[in-house]
Amino acid sequence: MKHWGFSTKAIHLGIDPQNNHGATSIPIYQTSSFAYSQAEELAEVFDGNRFGYIYSRISNPTVTAFEQRINALENGVGAVATSSGMAAIFTVLFTLTSQGDEIVSSKSLFGGTFLLFNRVLSKYGVSVKYVDILDPESIKNAITEKTRALFLESIGNPGMDVPDIRKISEITRAKSIPLIADSTLTTPCLFNAKEHGVDVVIHSSTKYITGNGSTMGGVFIDLGTFEWESLDNKDLKNAANRAGSEMAFLNVARRNILMNTGACQSPFNAYLHCMGLETLELRMEKHCSNALTLAEYLESHPAITEINYPGLKDNRFHKIADNLFNGRYGGLLSFSLPSQKQCFKLINRLKLIKNLANLGDAKTLITHPASTIFHECTEEEMREAGVHEGLVRLSVGIEDVKDIIEDLETALGEVD
Ligand code: PLP
Repeated sequence: MKHWGFSTKAIHLGIDPQNNHGATSIPIYQTSSFAYSQAEELAEVFDGNRFGYIYSRISNPTVTAFEQRINALENGVGAVATSSGMAAIFTVLFTLTSQGDEIVSSKSLFGGTFLLFNRVLSKYGVSVKYVDILDPESIKNAITEKTRALFLESIGNPGMDVPDIRKISEITRAKSIPLIADSTLTTPCLFNAKEHGVDVVIHSSTKYITGNGSTMGGVFIDLGTFEWESLDNKDLKNAANRAGSEMAFLNVARRNILMNTGACQSPFNAYLHCMGLETLELRMEKHCSNALTLAEYLESHPAITEINYPGLKDNRFHKIADNLFNGRYGGLLSFSLPSQKQCFKLINRLKLIKNLANLGDAKTLITHPASTIFHECTEEEMREAGVHEGLVRLSVGIEDVKDIIEDLETALGEVD
């Protein structure tokens, strides 16, 4: 099965029809808890001396199916699914840090991640040092003996910058800290995180993995490349001593953080993520080709002052994106109009494209980040993330591209 291609794995792994009455679609175990006839049996499962499900806040067979399927696509040692992408990010970072620790992070982040770092982690005594992720010297200088991870997005949302992840991983390896990448915009389909030196990869499965805007979820995968006992973290060292380094991070993440915060994924959502994965490769092809066509169209439109899409040949990240994402550049782009007023006029005149705060849907979506996703951020936080009042984000769907262009053409014609 290891030699299977991406879509074959995405369609077939995570379910054993022999043990599921021949079912080929993942069964939904819609149950909160699991019964054992003998008290000793359940006690053994609690002790970890016997495998078994206990309570769906810890694990559930449908959620396991999603974890196994995505883990196979990322070629990791295991995955933990969560209630949302944000829950995946906080579970990873709460696993790695204690009071007084530091994280080094890219400035170019999704607004919710900024707020988690600046409003929540800081409250618990973990500080985040922001660096220019395009400047290796600033990354090296920011890492101290208190740093427990470097965090970045494979493509910054909505800044659309692409960090040279392979080069950055050389720095994190030399400094013995794990490299954590949020690959929501690239999915395992475009970005082979393990091959490029990432240690833990995170996805909001709300987005392309589900692919139709129906479901919240998140997941993170340990790629098996980091020696967890080498990090200055008591829980990870204890877990590595108990059961070996390979599963230490995932065990602590599940048993200390996920279980105790209740950030678990629902079985029904896991089922929908599994269904989404089955068509991910096909959909990503169309997202990427539609986005490139639209970027080329928007680039030459007189109303637009700036377009950010790494697929464009003269984009400053084109070459890095080419290397990292195998000649595909994702379904998200952003562009600028002279003012917020013109962005609002454009959005209000669109008929097909939906104005909402999500991405990675089959439908094309538009968002004005400054007044929505980033509205709680300070001006400085927005500037750091490349957000300004004239910026519009477009999540390009998989409709017929001529219809998306027609909608934009009509609306842009009336923007002045
Ligand atoms: N990471 C990125 C890059 C995102 O764009 C988002 C949401 O838009 C998240 C994480 C958070 O995911 P969720 O909304 O599933 O919590």
